[in-house]
Amino acid sequence: MKTGGHYDAAVIGAGLSGLAAGIRLAHFGKRVCLFERHSAVGGLNSFYSIAGRRYDVGLHALTNFARSGGRGTPLTKVLRQLRIDRGELELFEQRRSRITFGARAPAELAFTNDFSVLESEVARAFPGRIDRFRALAERVRATPLSAEPSPVSARGALRELLGEPLLEEMLLCPILFYGGAAENDMDFNRFAMLFQAVLLEGLSRPREGIRAILRLLVDKYRAAGGERRMNCGVTRIRAQGGRVASLVLDSGEEVTAVQVLSSAGAVETAALLEGGSAGGTGPEAPAGRVSFVETISVLDRQPAELGWGADTIVFFNDSEKFSYAVPPSLIDTRSGVICIPNNFEFGPAGGLPEGVVRVTCLASPERWAGLSPEAYREAKQAGYGSVLECGRRFLPPVADAEFSKVTVATDMFTPLTIERFTGHRNGAIYGSPVKSPRGATTLQNLHLCGTDQGLLGIVGSMLSGITMANQHVLMGPGAPEGR
Ligand SMILES: Cc1cc2nc3c(=O)[nH]c(=O)nc-3n(C[C@H](O)[C@H](O)[C@H](O)COP(=O)(O)OP(=O)(O)OC[C@H]3O[C@@H](n4cnc5c(N)ncnc54)[C@H](O)[C@@H]3O)c2cc1C
Repeated sequence: MKTGGHYDAAVIGAGLSGLAAGIRLAHFGKRVCLFERHSAVGGLNSFYSIAGRRYDVGLHALTNFARSGGRGTPLTKVLRQLRIDRGELELFEQRRSRITFGARAPAELAFTNDFSVLESEVARAFPGRIDRFRALAERVRATPLSAEPSPVSARGALRELLGEPLLEEMLLCPILFYGGAAENDMDFNRFAMLFQAVLLEGLSRPREGIRAILRLLVDKYRAAGGERRMNCGVTRIRAQGGRVASLVLDSGEEVTAVQVLSSAGAVETAALLEGGSAGGTGPEAPAGRVSFVETISVLDRQPAELGWGADTIVFFNDSEKFSYAVPPSLIDTRSGVICIPNNFEFGPAGGLPEGVVRVTCLASPERWAGLSPEAYREAKQAGYGSVLECGRRFLPPVADAEFSKVTVATDMFTPLTIERFTGHRNGAIYGSPVKSPRGATTLQNLHLCGTDQGLLGIVGSMLSGITMANQHVLMGPGAPEGR
């Protein structure tokens, strides 16, 4: 076997957590290399081209919005630790988003990046519950940002604090859709982290979407001297004496590293260990099963011209009871998320040249995986129509013929697409329901970062990469001064 080098740190995966960890380590003079199986960086949050048109995967919105001058928020911490100036990441705020329940006479809560808008919406729709809602927001603010799970269930806490089932379901809907690794509930710390990220801090995006973020991260990494091997996954982790002895690459080379960070996921990393589960990352971390399909419709005009100019994100559910679970069928069209990226406040310089509407619904990874190639193609075609139709029920009406006329390109991804391009079993976007907050594994110098460490989303996964790099590589012997 060829030897392919020795590193202070090797990082498995060049998604957002891997890139952030790499930048942090390279800044402190560590010899670091990112090993990425695919040709593109970004993992769950990347982009691809079809017929010359570029599509984003992942990014609906960057959560954790913070205005310049804001201190101590997750986004400002990420920018400071990665030495990114606020101006380098030009962010545009959401216009308005809403949570809407029930198709005919919907219960609705609008929100913006100004939390008082949501407060006044709750006061309007649930006048008897506004004080309780404020108490919930206070409890969320008082919960420190941490990937450590709380023994308290979010549903249980909401029931006790709000005493209003519909409001409970409506608040859980965006939080579960933007971070629920388990079905129907999550622990209260995770709920608080996501409530803070989505509803208290809010949503924004760079004009160019995820490409702008990835370009910035890759430039920082390169400038700091980080190395990366694309199209070069890790096929095996060799262990000896309770430590990683070497990494075997897809190319057949073998590399060594003092410390290894893996963003591949807990179960996925365990599967790389020679000897399989005997050296696993922990028997209690099962593979996640919650996954989505998403349709993308590209329009020859701005969505505002169809009367769809008001909403940035719409979290919808067609009844008063919200089910966030793996459906028995291919897709659950009862609930979902609509994202209209044109409806961020791009200001006078203008926004995106084409209209884009994305609709996301829960999907069954097992059902999609069970289809023959031909049945898969047919299901994708039928699924595009049904997902789009279910989303359009929650937008101002547009005739089918008109919508078809203005649609210039479409695409759809399924749990299989996500699994193929990220390696996450079952296409589980939020990974295993059991997280590893300290990133610990059964090997002393192998640590998890990203989705299965427990900090989620674009900002969360970058923070996870930074935190794990700080704790497991930079805080070790010979740590650099002046961090
Ligand atoms: C459809 C969708 C919509 C989303 N929307 C949003 C949103 O609007 N806002 C938001 O904040 N977040 C969103 N997210 C979540 C966000 O994308 C993720 O939380 C985040 O990108 C996770 O980053 P990560 O680094 O932990 O993992 P990943 O992105 O999964 O990165 C892991 C990387 O490891 C690589 N890899 C795996 N195995 C190996 C191996 N053996 N060898 C080498 N490389 C390997 C993979 O190819 C991948 O590049 C969305 C995700 C999806 C899929």
